[in-house]
Amino acid sequence: MKRTIALALLLGLVALATMRQLRERNGLVEVNRQWPVMGTFFTVSAYAPDSAVASAAVAAAGRAVFRVDSLMSTWQPESEISRLNAAAGSGEWLPLSAETLGVLQASAALARASDGAFDVTVGPLMRAWGFRGGEARPPSVAVRDSAGALVGYQLLELDSAGQRARLARAGAAVDLGAIAKGYALDVAAAALRAAGAQAGMVDLGGNVLAFGPPPAGRAYWTVGVLDPRDPGGTIGQVRLREGAVATSGDYEQFFEVAGVRYSHIMDPRRGEPARGTLQVTAIAATGLQADGLSTALFVMGPERGRAFLDHPWAGRATAIWVRDSLPLDARDMVVAGPAAADVQLAAPPAR
Ligand code: ADP
Ligand code: MG
Repeated sequence: MKRTIALALLLGLVALATMRQLRERNGLVEVNRQWPVMGTFFTVSAYAPDSAVASAAVAAAGRAVFRVDSLMSTWQPESEISRLNAAAGSGEWLPLSAETLGVLQASAALARASDGAFDVTVGPLMRAWGFRGGEARPPSVAVRDSAGALVGYQLLELDSAGQRARLARAGAAVDLGAIAKGYALDVAAAALRAAGAQAGMVDLGGNVLAFGPPPAGRAYWTVGVLDPRDPGGTIGQVRLREGAVATSGDYEQFFEVAGVRYSHIMDPRRGEPARGTLQVTAIAATGLQADGLSTALFVMGPERGRAFLDHPWAGRATAIWVRDSLPLDARDMVVAGPAAADVQLAAPPAR
């Protein structure tokens, strides 16, 4: 959470600097606003010809994010996903909004494409490891294995024509924590555009999306790549023309036992937190893609992940892996993908 706030502040500064230039050159007005939502902060900057339009756009973007949360949160008992989970194993189909169905379809496609490295049925494992309330600690082998037996994307049945879904086994549970924030950014950006914003930047806890003309005199928006072991520090930056950048790190939620860090990103097939990677940043066309990929590529690691960038689901994404090694140095950072030239990394300071 601390990292999320640091990123929000950093991006806020970038956005402010950006605005001054836009106002001078393009006569656009900037309006910024921030809300706590989805367990993090949503920060929006809208650029429009006048402040009434910019303000209305910002408000519309905020409403869009709250709507996505109310549909897809596992923390809200009345959300569509919570009701889908509550009905698991009953045989009953749950009618869904087109939006939730769409996110589940995209998630299922990524699960198949990644051979289960990404899997939104990871809910039982999140609980077993204590990431959903109670004590965060490694579960017994028996608890881990019984949770693992309830995980598998084949358990999620989607009826596209009927716009409904069900989970095949009692105790199975969908958790969209790895992809809903990215989708929310897509919806927020669409709301900004529809309300008349000519450019905008939206940020939701480590996920950023920008559209429209970047700061005057520059060909890019700039997004910092966080230093996974220094809150508030960065190890480089991404020059973003248009699109999304998402980062998944082992420091967002974790606990440590006997010097081993257990993070909230699971390797679903092993039933335990993924190891070997500190952080992945994915650069993609949409927020949903960048968010889903940041998690999938974290689980895969750089060797497998690099090959996965050629898969159609990845849609010509670019990724930056920071491998787990101490002390961190430049050799532990792997960049791959067509936008690699837009990634500038500095060796992290020795420590
Ligand atoms: P953050 O929430 O910090 O932005 P991610 O986008 O990587 O990070 O999402 C992590 C969340 O995704 C976890 O808290 C959990 O809800 C869910 N999750 C964990 N492991 C997986 C996985 N292998 N596939 C899909 N979702 C996962
Ligand atoms: Mg993600």
